[in-house]
Amino acid sequence: MPTQVLFENAEHKNLLLEDFTSGRMVQANQHLILHNGKAMLLDPGGHKVYSAALEELSTYVSPSALQYIFFSHQDPDIVAAANGWLMVTDAQAFLPQLWIRFITHFGVDDFLVDRIEALPDQGRVIELAGSKLAILPAHFLHSAGNFQVYDPVSKILYSGDLGASLGQTYVTVENFDDHIQYMEGFHRRYMSSNKALKLWATMVKPLEIEIIAPQHGAMIVGKENVQRFIAWSEGLACGLDLLERVYRLPRV
Ligand code: FE
Repeated sequence: MPTQVLFENAEHKNLLLEDFTSGRMVQANQHLILHNGKAMLLDPGGHKVYSAALEELSTYVSPSALQYIFFSHQDPDIVAAANGWLMVTDAQAFLPQLWIRFITHFGVDDFLVDRIEALPDQGRVIELAGSKLAILPAHFLHSAGNFQVYDPVSKILYSGDLGASLGQTYVTVENFDDHIQYMEGFHRRYMSSNKALKLWATMVKPLEIEIIAPQHGAMIVGKENVQRFIAWSEGLACGLDLLERVYRLPRV
């Protein structure tokens, strides 16, 4: 799938970069937000997508104009190539506070680690060349320290693993009911609890959202499908809610 433009006006552009995942890697999406010549890269992925993603990004913006790199959480499909991205750009990265002390195990050099800013639990607002972006708490959805990004210009909510789907062949959800089958197993096992989903739903309901763009699988497009996804999440039992099924001694 080639790079897609999700939103564009005179000074603002949102791109879903070409999919460079391959083989047995979990499919993962890399997103780029551009504003007035500056860029923010979201969840850039692991080593095997790094050079292709960098090359693709370079066709839209010089790597030196990459101002921010956002790491929603600590998983390898997000942070594994952190050192490379920090080496070839001057970007400032953001990572949930909980994971700062772990990321050096992925080989982030001491002299680069100071360019990774710890995000406090409550999130924050950042400015990309004057355009405000909200970093929203989404802890335990799934990671214990986990954030999403809401862009009020494009009205895209970059939802990380929430809303992820696996195994579908399309990039945009047309039929929400039919799409549930591709999200359900992942959400029931990886998301931590219905309590976190309910808190998230209450938090995002006041936002005007046109697209929910997860880090894996298809995007949920249009206000109606977005509302349906929020309602579905709010009612979903997952994680801790279902643990009785697996907490049993294996037979020896
Ligand atoms: Fe993850």
